[in-house]
This record gives sequence, C-alpha cells and structure tokens, in this order.
Amino acid sequence: MIFSDFRDFDLKRLPDVRGSYKKHVVMAPYTWFRVGGAAATVFRPQDHEDLSQFLLQNSEEVPVTIIGAASNILIRDGGIPGVVIKLGKNFASINFKNNSVRIGAGLPNSIAARLALKEGYSGLEFLSGIPGTIGGGLRMNAGAYGKEVKDILIEAEVIDNTGNIKVLSLEEMAMSYRHCGVPKDYIFLSGLFKTGKDVQPNIQKKLDEIKARRVESQPITERTGGSTFKNPKGYKAWELIEAAGCRGVSIGGAMVSEQHCNFLVNTGNADATDLENLGNIVQQKVRDATGIELEWEIKLLGLPKDSNLNTEDVSYE
Ligand SMILES: Cc1cc2nc3c(=O)[nH]c(=O)nc-3n(C[C@H](O)[C@H](O)[C@H](O)COP(=O)(O)OP(=O)(O)OC[C@H]3O[C@@H](n4cnc5c(N)ncnc54)[C@H](O)[C@@H]3O)c2cc1C
Repeated sequence: MIFSDFRDFDLKRLPDVRGSYKKHVVMAPYTWFRVGGAAATVFRPQDHEDLSQFLLQNSEEVPVTIIGAASNILIRDGGIPGVVIKLGKNFASINFKNNSVRIGAGLPNSIAARLALKEGYSGLEFLSGIPGTIGGGLRMNAGAYGKEVKDILIEAEVIDNTGNIKVLSLEEMAMSYRHCGVPKDYIFLSGLFKTGKDVQPNIQKKLDEIKARRVESQPITERTGGSTFKNPKGYKAWELIEAAGCRGVSIGGAMVSEQHCNFLVNTGNADATDLENLGNIVQQKVRDATGIELEWEIKLLGLPKDSNLNTEDVSYE
C-alpha cells in the first residue's frame, strides 16, 4: 500500500496499547495557527514501554507523525493519515543533577525554564520565549537571542521506528541552524542539557529581558507558527520579505505579520491552504526580487484540502 491509498486503511489493525487512541481528531484547536484538518488517529502512549511496543508492532504501512505543541507546524486542511503521536505527562519529567538537567521531550520549554529558575539553575533562559516542547526544540534545534538547543545539549534519548531506545551524543545528532540530522522517523524521549548555578534574581532578570524583547518584536498573542522561513546564509529572511514588499500582504484570512514579516498570522478565518499559498507567494516574490530562495522553517504536514480523509471505519476511541 502506498501512502496516498492510506485513507482506505482499516485502522482496527493498530497494535494493542495501554495508552489511548482517539479517532478523527480535528487538529486545528491544538495548533498555534488554529488551522488544519483531522488526524485519522491520535495516540497518547502511556509510557516509554507502551510507545516502544506500539512502534515495534505497528505496520510499516501506517504512517506515524509525532507532534509537540504544534508551534512550528502547518497541518494541511486534508488532515493527517495514520497515527499522530502526542506525548503526555509521563514524557515530561525534569531532573536536575550537578551541572546538568534531563528533561522529557513532552515538557513545554516555558515550564522547563520556570522550574530551572525555581531550582536556581541557569542556562535555560533562552527557552522561555520559544513556545513548544523540548522534543520540538530538539528536532528544530530551536534558538533565540544567540543561543540554540545544540549549545546546551549533551545527549538525547531517542526511540527508532522499531521501538529501540538509544542515546545519541550531540556529535551524532549533526545539529546546525534549525536543523537536526537525526533520522526523521526517530522520536525524542528526552534531552540531557548543560546548566550552571546562579541566584534567582539574576535568572529572573534574564527571563524578564527575554519576555520584553519578545513582546516588542513578535506577534506572540496571534495565531501564528513562528518563523516561516529559515534565514538564508548571510541574510535575514524578514529583511528579504520586506524588500520584496510582502509586509502586511494577505490571502483570505492569512496575512504576513505587520509586526514581524517572517511570521504568517491567521487573522481569524484562514485555513491552512490560505497560509501555505501565502507562504508560497512570499517565496516567489522574494525569488523574483532578490534571486534568493527561502526555505520553509515551518513543517508542512498532511494532505491538501480536497483529500477528505476517510475515517468512518475507525473503531478506536
Ligand atoms: C510566537 C512564536 C514564536 C516562536 N519563536 C521561536 C524562536 O524564537 N526560536 C525558534 O527556534 N522557534 C520559535 N518558534 C517556533 C517553535 O516554537 C519552535 O520550533 C519549537 O521548538 C517547536 O516545538 P513544538 O513542540 O511546538 O514542535 P511542533 O511544532 O509540534 O513540531 C515541530 C517539528 O518537531 C517534530 N517533533 C515534535 N516533537 C518531537 C519529538 N518528541 N521527537 C521528534 N520530533 C518531534 C515534529 O514532527 C515537527 O517536525 C516560535 C513559534 C511561535 C508560535
């Protein structure tokens, strides 16, 4: 069976698990953009072992997609076939030890930064302003204000597509600007990060500075997906977008943010098609104006609008 035939697949064939399956989950409310079609099934594994058994037994014909806080993805209107995995509380532990901290992939960055403050550990402040989870941050090599995940990472625990858990060193992960060289079908379980010790007022001061800079420079209260395009080497994507005359340009309910023109926003009634089309137009205009090719940073997931994902035969709840 090929991927595009998957909509007719009988999802009753999914492995038995201790966690939960939920059928036909409309994904829009779970994403920062508030757009996107339905996932055929969402699987919330109970724990590492449950996830491992699922991956071991899952048919290779059933596509698996992992998502975090959905702050850097655009789920297309036709939805996501197969199984979307969302890690819950049992994947969100945090343990400080000496000068390092192990953080579960499901923990939101903001909570990790807040707990580090509480315990008097420094070095995680930059994560406080990056919406998303530790797992998403590892995959994206997320970064802000001169610091990226790879700068504090020691190693990461991953699970491969047959359920084997492994530990990868920073070198093995081949991380670079908004890139992680770990195979795309590996799921991050946790990261081990370097930290320092500091007094709380110093850490709090850094957190406050980051918050103030974000409020000023990013549309953080809007329905957005963060930076749309990666910065091409030697350029800032937003400067190229501005030079191409795209600030404030809109299609349907999708608009290039007036505040930060590398952000697309859903002004209320956009669908994923509007947002993707607008991104493609921006790409084309920048290409025409500057000859430079912008590469999507946002991950585009799922099927286009008219695909009408068929999940009628799904029996899992
Ligand atoms: C207002 C706003 C501001 C932002 N500012 C920044 C910024 O300053 N710097 C920055 O780098 N980013 C920024 N972002 C983008 C985004 O927050 C980061 O990329 C974040 O790391 C994504 O994490 P997530 O959990 O939301 O991942 P998702 O968006 O859910 O997924 C992103 C990718 O990670 C993969 N993924 C998620 N979890 C796992 C896992 N456990 N194992 C393997 N793969 C996984 C997904 O499959 C997908 O490919 C911003 C976004 C918004 C909305």
